[in-house]
Amino acid sequence: MTTKTMTDFCWDILDFIYPQRCPVCQATLSSGRELMCRNCMLKFREKKRLLGPCCPSCKRQLPSLSDGCECEGSDHALEAVFSLGVYGEETEALIENFKYKRKRRLGSFLSEVLGETLLESVKLPRAGFIVPVPLHKRKLRERGFNQSQAVADQLSEKLGIPVLSDSVIRKRNTRSQTGLSREERQKNVKGAFRLTGKVDLEGRALLLVDDVLTTGATMSECARTLKSAGADKIWGVTLAVAAGTGLLEL
Ligand SMILES: [Zn+2]
Ligand SMILES: [Zn+2]
Repeated sequence: MTTKTMTDFCWDILDFIYPQRCPVCQATLSSGRELMCRNCMLKFREKKRLLGPCCPSCKRQLPSLSDGCECEGSDHALEAVFSLGVYGEETEALIENFKYKRKRRLGSFLSEVLGETLLESVKLPRAGFIVPVPLHKRKLRERGFNQSQAVADQLSEKLGIPVLSDSVIRKRNTRSQTGLSREERQKNVKGAFRLTGKVDLEGRALLLVDDVLTTGATMSECARTLKSAGADKIWGVTLAVAAGTGLLEL
C-alpha cells in the first residue's frame, strides 16, 4: 500500500481542478508535478548541451577560454558566454513559462541542468562571485521575482560559488529591448546600472547571470558597471543564447 503525503494529496487536488499542459507541446500532463510531458523531457535530455565559450557579440564558439574573438563587437565587457542552448522552440517555451508564468520549478530544473552541464563540460574560470543581472524595482514588483536571481541561486548551489546580489542595482527601468537594433539596445541600456558600493569587487572574477543573451547589450552594460568598481574578468552564463545573426553554428 502506498501512503500519500500531504503534498501528493494537494497535487492531486490541483491536477483535478487545473489540469496542467506541457509548456513545449501543450499535451495534457498526467500530473502537475511533471515539468514537461515524457516525450519533450526525453528530447530535452537527449539534446546536445552547452554552448561556449561563445563570443558574447557574434555568438561564435571560441576554441578556448583564452581565445578572444576578432569580430567588430570584440570590445564587449564580457570575456565569453556559456549557455545551455540556442533560444528557440523548446527553450523559448520553457524560459517564457518560467519567466512570465512564474513556473519557478521549471526555472530550478533548467538552472540545475545548466549547473551540471557546466561542471561536466568545461573547466570553469575561477570566479569569486556569481552576480545576477538586477531588475528595476518596478519590474521586480510586476513580475514578482527576478528570474536571473533564481538561476544564480541554483547555480551557486551546484558550483559552490556564492551569489552577490547587492553589488549593483538597476537604476533606470529601460524599455523593452525587443525589436531594437544592436545600436538602439546599447543606447537604451547606457547608464542603466549603478554600483551600491556595498561590496569590494577589486580584482574579483565574476560569473554574470541572466536568462537569455540576445545582443548582449544589457549584460555588457552591467559588466562594464561592475568593472568600473575594479572587477577583473567577467564571464556570462545564461539559460539560452539567441543566435540572431545566424552566425552561431552548432
Ligand atoms: Zn510535451
Ligand atoms: Zn565575435
